[in-house]
Amino acid sequence: MSVLEIKDLHVTVETDQGIKPILRGVDLTINEGEIHAIMGPNGSGKSTLAYTIAGHPKYTVTGGTITLDGEDVLAMTVDERARAGLFLAMQYPVEIPGVSVSNFLRTAKTAIAGEAPAIRGWIKEVRDSMSNLRMDKSFAERNVNEGFSGGEKKRTEILQLELLKPRFAVLDETDSGLDVDALKIVSEGVNRAKATTGLGVLLITHYTRILRYIRPDFVHVFVAGRIAEQGGPELADRLEDEGYDRYVDTANVE
Ligand code: ADP
Ligand code: MG
Ligand code: MG
Repeated sequence: MSVLEIKDLHVTVETDQGIKPILRGVDLTINEGEIHAIMGPNGSGKSTLAYTIAGHPKYTVTGGTITLDGEDVLAMTVDERARAGLFLAMQYPVEIPGVSVSNFLRTAKTAIAGEAPAIRGWIKEVRDSMSNLRMDKSFAERNVNEGFSGGEKKRTEILQLELLKPRFAVLDETDSGLDVDALKIVSEGVNRAKATTGLGVLLITHYTRILRYIRPDFVHVFVAGRIAEQGGPELADRLEDEGYDRYVDTANVE
């Protein structure tokens, strides 16, 4: 049974105005096969949490721990984190000029698995996943994210997720900018990964809409750099009705 544990995490970010504290004591435990939704207003530090788990150099951990099955994630390089089974789908996926989707996936798979995948099985796997995600075959030969629409970028993230088979995935606003059809396709991909590989998911979102298609086991309300409240799926329904106002007011008077 795999477990990703975050304890009392404090993180600062370097800005033009100096060092700014963003995360102020985050506690979160995600077991294999669990889906945790993190919901919160803009600027509350959700992406900071995602980047910190992934090891982005701009974010400095000033306190607390992140462990994967007891191993110190914070001591790992970005590559080591990926090999240990962590995956981040970014809020703003980057373009990689000159690198085709097909080459990118194969290189990433090779780096993570420690050896190149056998070619015939791999090609079939890529084709099947692309077809599941209703991606045209031609995408394999296009440069990663270059000229992709928002929805195409998000599908490409899920394609990576399906093929790289991480143990835990952080999905940062994978729902933003998707129409309902794309949202369903992306959600099916996540649900499939959970069902087939026991993927644990940290699903960061501003809106409750995606939670109709990916049912969370736990919902955490994230405000001003920490979890303000947690509950089950019913908490998401309440947020849909009430919004974040009362949490934000509480955070401000503190
Ligand atoms: P969210 O994803 O919840 O919208 P973020 O983690 O992106 O929140 O941002 C939290 C706060 O930290 C914001 O005030 C944002 O401006 C600041 N911040 C985050 N990353 C950076 C950065 N790389 N440079 C400067 N400020 C940042
Ligand atoms: Mg934001
Ligand atoms: Mg964000």
